[in-house]
Amino acid sequence: MKIVCVGGGPAGLYLGILARLRSRGRAEVVVAERNAPGTASGFAVTLGEDILDELYRTDPEGAPAIRAAAHVWDSQVVEVAGRTVHLGGRYGYSIGRARLLEVLARRAQQVGVDLRFETAVAPDGDLTADPLTADADVVVGADGVNSAIRAHRAEAFGARVSHGENRYVWFGTSKPFRPFTFAFERTDAGWIWFHAYPAADCLSTCIVECTPETWTGLGLDTMAPDDAMRMLEKIFARTLGGHSLIAPPGMGSSPWLQFREVRTMSWRDGNVVLAGDAAHTTHFAIGSGTVLAVADSIALAEELFPGDGHEPGVLPALAAYDARRRARMLPIQDMARRSMEWFETVPRRLDAADPVDFAWSLLDRRGDQGRLHRRLHDVTQVDPVREVRRRLTTARRVRRAVGRGEIAPAQAPGELLQG
Ligand SMILES: Cc1cc2nc3c(=O)[nH]c(=O)nc-3n(C[C@H](O)[C@H](O)[C@H](O)COP(=O)(O)OP(=O)(O)OC[C@H]3O[C@@H](n4cnc5c(N)ncnc54)[C@H](O)[C@@H]3O)c2cc1C
Repeated sequence: MKIVCVGGGPAGLYLGILARLRSRGRAEVVVAERNAPGTASGFAVTLGEDILDELYRTDPEGAPAIRAAAHVWDSQVVEVAGRTVHLGGRYGYSIGRARLLEVLARRAQQVGVDLRFETAVAPDGDLTADPLTADADVVVGADGVNSAIRAHRAEAFGARVSHGENRYVWFGTSKPFRPFTFAFERTDAGWIWFHAYPAADCLSTCIVECTPETWTGLGLDTMAPDDAMRMLEKIFARTLGGHSLIAPPGMGSSPWLQFREVRTMSWRDGNVVLAGDAAHTTHFAIGSGTVLAVADSIALAEELFPGDGHEPGVLPALAAYDARRRARMLPIQDMARRSMEWFETVPRRLDAADPVDFAWSLLDRRGDQGRLHRRLHDVTQVDPVREVRRRLTTARRVRRAVGRGEIAPAQAPGELLQG
């Protein structure tokens, strides 16, 4: 079987790896990436326990390199105009996007994926005209949020694209944010905030976001990007602690973006199938796009190569993948939209609530917290209680790591406690 993945992001690379592994090297897999190696948009993405479990389950030899490149953020805080509120029991992992792509690309080459950089496939989305895909049994459109493959077959995929209201920029900062930090500051033009988490030892992601009213009120819509960065550094001086912001790679004259929500009615059209952001997007505030892209690739590889000696054939496998993943995505996209809409109403919420209540509302923005959690949130603001919760959380993290084979039971907990 010949599989061609258009796009060497997390979806395309992980599909390539698993297709090679699960077919026991029988599948010929080409991953074509239009960019040169080492090119990555954005700084870091967050990963949760579930995806780490899945990485260790599906590629136990490759997963440790991803885990080794990831950083632990062992707590979460909300800074409201200088007042710190703690969100207890929260932790996660984050990994530099460039580093993740490098690790995945190395693993893909190790398992025999034919990885071709600087190879743009059908930039207009018309696969019939591209020699690379002409004799492929499966073509995977893993070409990201602006997928030309999806756009070219818009009717077959039933694609709908809508925009969030807020404006954001995916900055980096030299400040090492160990707790995942949401910081909100009041300006003359309204509230503005960032989401920050570690990307590397001395680098963090710092996504700055505001409503359109604040954006125009501060003049960010017309200001030169460098001037905007200097202004934002001043606004966030107390939480950045004098550190600077770092421009996103390839920052043009207007780095401000609006989130693009992609929903699709079908992820397959003949032997062409979508995966990752090409098929669906979820607002960055739930930190899941990479995770979901990798989960798509796992499902697709498992349907194509079930590993039970029986291969169902391309079209039934793509139909099973489409049914399995699309059903799973719908509630996740609804939840991500609630989260996005919550951030669109931040100014009203901040003006009306005490910081502890506001932080609770942030924690419960997807509507998945109970009354007991609310009580816990209040007592988490007390230092000794928070310390107990931190220890319990660390123990939970160690158990998960042992469970997936990341560390041997005898090694716990010292190694993990260091992150
Ligand atoms: C501000 C922000 C913060 C985020 N934070 C997180 C987070 O914390 N956690 C998380 O899990 N996710 C996060 N995400 C989402 C995450 O970055 C994406 O969901 C993820 O990269 C999707 O992977 P993908 O492989 O589907 O697409 P991409 O990573 O976009 O990869 C697509 C690739 O296809 C290539 N390509 C496109 N067209 C062609 C062509 N014609 N030929 C060859 N190659 C082509 C592109 O160059 C690109 O490399 C965030 C996103 C944003 C914007």
